Amino acid sequence: MLATPGMGHLIPLAELAKRLASRHGITTTLLTFASTASATQRAFLASLPSTISAQSLPAVDLSDLPPTAAIETRMSEECARSVPALTSILLDLKRTTRLVAFVADLFGADSFDAAAKAGVTNKCLFFPTNLHVLTLILHLPELDGSVTCEFKELPEPLRLPGCVPIPGPDILMPLQDKSDPCYRWMVHHGAKYRDADAVLVNSFDAVEPEAAKILRQPDPTRPTVYPIGPLIKHDNNNNDFAKTPREPCLAWLDAQPDRSVLFVSFGSGGSLPSSEMRELALGLERSGQRFLWVVRSPSDGGAVNDNYYDAESKRDPFAYLPEGFVERTRDTGLVVPSWAPQTKVLAHPATGGFLTHCGWNSVLESLVHGVPMVAWPLYAEQRQNAVMLADESVGAAIRVPEKGKDAERIAAVVRELMEGEGKGAAVRAKVAEMRKAAADGLREGGAAAAALAEVVDKWTTTEDQLMEE
Ligand code: UDP
Repeated sequence: MLATPGMGHLIPLAELAKRLASRHGITTTLLTFASTASATQRAFLASLPSTISAQSLPAVDLSDLPPTAAIETRMSEECARSVPALTSILLDLKRTTRLVAFVADLFGADSFDAAAKAGVTNKCLFFPTNLHVLTLILHLPELDGSVTCEFKELPEPLRLPGCVPIPGPDILMPLQDKSDPCYRWMVHHGAKYRDADAVLVNSFDAVEPEAAKILRQPDPTRPTVYPIGPLIKHDNNNNDFAKTPREPCLAWLDAQPDRSVLFVSFGSGGSLPSSEMRELALGLERSGQRFLWVVRSPSDGGAVNDNYYDAESKRDPFAYLPEGFVERTRDTGLVVPSWAPQTKVLAHPATGGFLTHCGWNSVLESLVHGVPMVAWPLYAEQRQNAVMLADESVGAAIRVPEKGKDAERIAAVVRELMEGEGKGAAVRAKVAEMRKAAADGLREGGAAAAALAEVVDKWTTTEDQLMEE
C-alpha cells in the first residue's frame, strides 16, 4: 500500500491493512514518502501491529516546485517522481512474497504505472474520502471540457448522479483555480483512476445512499466501486491505569456529565486565522456549553493547511486566545495544544458534539460514535463534505455560516446542536441512526464487510489462476 502525505490518508489505509489481516489473513507493506517523516507519523507507524511493516520511499528532489505550490501538487509530483523507486520496491516484494495486490490512495494514481511495470496483477485505488467526492473526480475529465468558467462562478449548484447539489464555491478546493497546476493534476487523477481494477471507498450507504446505489452499478467506463467503510482508528479506550497515567484531557472528560462536552478540532493540519480563532473562543464561552478545544497557532501569513506536513503548532497557540479566556472558562472548558486522542475523545460518554473541519476521517469517527457535528470546513474537500452533511437528506451536521462567523452566531449554532429542540434534535436523532447502520455494515455479512470480502476473493483468485498458468 502506498500512502500519500497526510495523517488523513495514512490512518485509514493502516485501518484497511489491519482489517485485511484480521479478517482475511493478509499482511501489508505500507509505503510512505520521505517528505512526511514527521514525529507524529513516526509514532503512528511504530504503533502498528506486526502484520503491517512500514517502509519509506527514497527522497525525490522537489526543489524546483515554488514554495506556493499547493499540497495536492506536491503530493502528486512526489508520487510521479517516485515511480522508478517504487517499481524496484514492488519487483523486490514480488520476488520475496506472494504479492496479491497493490493499493494506492487518492493522490497516488501515478503509482499504478509502477505496479504495471512490476507486473502486479491487482491495482486498487483506496479513496479515503466519500462517494460524492469520488463521483466528482471521476467526472472531471468531462467537466474539464463542459464547464468553461471557474467552478466558483457556476450560476447553479453542480448536479452529479446520486449527489447532493454542490454550490460552485463549495466544490473541492484544488479545483477552484483552473490556472493552478493542482487543477490539472486533479483532472489527470480523474482519468488515471480508470487504470485501477477496483476502487475501495471509505464510506457507507447510510450516509450517501443515492451515490452508493449508482456507483455500485457496473459501468464499463470506470472500475468497480466498493464502499468498505467506515474504517476508523480504534484506540483502546480502557487505559491501563496501573501502567500509564490517563491522558489529561480524557481524565478531564471523566469528570463531565454524559454528552455535555463539545469537542472542537480542525484535523491533523488545520488552523484558523487569528480573527476567527478569537470569535470561536468567544462563541464557545457565550454558548455556555462545556468544550474541549484542540488549538493550533493561527494560520495568519500562511495557509489554513499550514500544519499539513506536521501537526505540531509552529508558535504558542495560547498566545492567540482572547485575554483571560482560559481563566474565565476554567470550569466549563479545556484547551489543549496541537493534538488530542480524537477517537478516544469521540468515544467518551461525556462527548455530545463535535465542531469539526469536516475532514472525512473526522466525520466517520464522529458517525461511528454517534456524535452530531457542527461543520466548520477549511480546505480540500471539506466544504463539499459540509454541504452534504448539512443537507436535509443527510442531516448529520449544522453548518456555521461561511460569511458571518461571529461569536454570537457560533454560540447559537453550538447551543442548537447540543440542546436545541429543532434542527439540533433532528441531527442528534439522525446521527444515532447512522451509528447503528455503520456498525451493521461492518459486522460479518454486513454490506461493507461483504464488499471487502469480494475484493479479496478477486485478488486471491486472479493470483491463484496466474500461479496455475
Ligand atoms: N487526529 C487526532 N488528533 C488530533 C487531530 C487529528 O487523532 O488532534 C486524527 C483524527 O482522529 C483523524 C485524522 O487525524 O483520524 C484527521 O483526518 P481527517 O480526514 O479528519 O482530516 P485531515 O487531517 O486529513 O484534514
